[in-house]
Amino acid sequence: MLFHRIPGDPQARFYISRCKYCGTKYVKIANKTAFCSDECRCKSKQDSKARYQRKRRKLIRDGELVSNENNYVGTGFLSKHRRTNFKDEYLSILKEKRRIGVAF
Ligand SMILES: [Zn+2]
Repeated sequence: MLFHRIPGDPQARFYISRCKYCGTKYVKIANKTAFCSDECRCKSKQDSKARYQRKRRKLIRDGELVSNENNYVGTGFLSKHRRTNFKDEYLSILKEKRRIGVAF
């Protein structure tokens, strides 16, 4: 009970807290810390990144979000010159419209 925080005691600097990732008890030294170890901190960050990417990929798959990962010059499927075959040209335009999110 040495490290227990006593409410209203200005001398209390350390207190026992639970890790946000694994749930074990640890001695909290700074207010910013939320995890028992660096390993737990890294794993938690990885998990949250994975969650974010999963959600993002789902939105892209469902067509709600347009990915801008490859959104730089020269990545389109349209070439500088038009194709001689009209149907091929039409299909490539449709594909490009779908890629940039204009066609629905
Ligand atoms: Zn932990």
